[in-house]
Amino acid sequence: EKFKDGLSKTRHSFVGAMNELIKDYRKVDEDFFEELEEILISADVGVHTVLTLIDELKDEVKRRNIKDAKDIQPVISEKLAELLQKSDDETELKLKEDGLTIILFVGVNGVGKTTTIGKLAHKFKQEGKKVILAAGDTFRAGAIEQLEVWGERAGVDVIKQQSGSDPAAVMYDAVHSAKSKGADILLCDTAGRLQNKVNLMNELEKVKRVLTKEVPDAPHEVLLVLDATTGQNAMSQAKTFGKATDVSGIVLTKLDGTAKGGIVLAIRHELDIPVKLVGLGEGIDDLQAFQADQYVHGLFA
Ligand code: GDP
Repeated sequence: EKFKDGLSKTRHSFVGAMNELIKDYRKVDEDFFEELEEILISADVGVHTVLTLIDELKDEVKRRNIKDAKDIQPVISEKLAELLQKSDDETELKLKEDGLTIILFVGVNGVGKTTTIGKLAHKFKQEGKKVILAAGDTFRAGAIEQLEVWGERAGVDVIKQQSGSDPAAVMYDAVHSAKSKGADILLCDTAGRLQNKVNLMNELEKVKRVLTKEVPDAPHEVLLVLDATTGQNAMSQAKTFGKATDVSGIVLTKLDGTAKGGIVLAIRHELDIPVKLVGLGEGIDDLQAFQADQYVHGLFA
């Protein structure tokens, strides 16, 4: 249901256009595929991914001897699911069975990092886990207070220092506090200013070093948060962060706010980093574990 609601904009524009196409053409021919290609590209699926998809569709259409355009929709949804499902097990967050799991969130300002941390804190809390937040964005004005608001909403503690202090020191405090309180999960916010990429990446490395020093296999996840409404910008942010630090998964926010939800496919296919969570609204419950079959189902529902 959540996926269905969250993907309604994409569904209306993307699947709407596809249904028009099927009605107009009736016959599956070269022109049909060309227009389908355009529809997919305008849904932000990504050129490279679209070409792969169209090739596979053509093969499948031949194999099954499909002539009628109306018979092609199930093949399209099958292929989309396949493309997303390459390694479905990877999409689950890696949580420690015993002891503290540390998750680091990275991404540029405004993508929805703080919101995602708040939503995830709420989700874990509801599962009976003890959660602590680390206010590691000491740079952006208001970032600490905003995280505190989410901490209150979710009912979890926030470890912070003054604005402008060293994020690595905040992380050190947070890990010690999490250990002494016997926490299960520590969710770490980080700065997202892009004005000075080199400094930002150095800061992230330093934060990671502190975490690893305190807990040898930490961070257990480094989640890159991307805003689905920014399309190709999101792709280039993924490349920048991916180069600078080991990203273990992607959180794609604001899928509800875009008609171009095809970006999920581009990310999965072109970046080789699994999408683990998706944001489908501004509310505390609007975060979902990403599941390829539910996504595709939500598209065509
Ligand atoms: P940060 O700067 O990365 O920490 O971004 P914020 O968490 O402050 O989020 C920026 C804006 O995006 C806020 O207005 C959030 O309510 C909004 N936002 C975050 N996630 C989602 C989402 O999944 N859907 C929608 N519609 N809005 C979101």
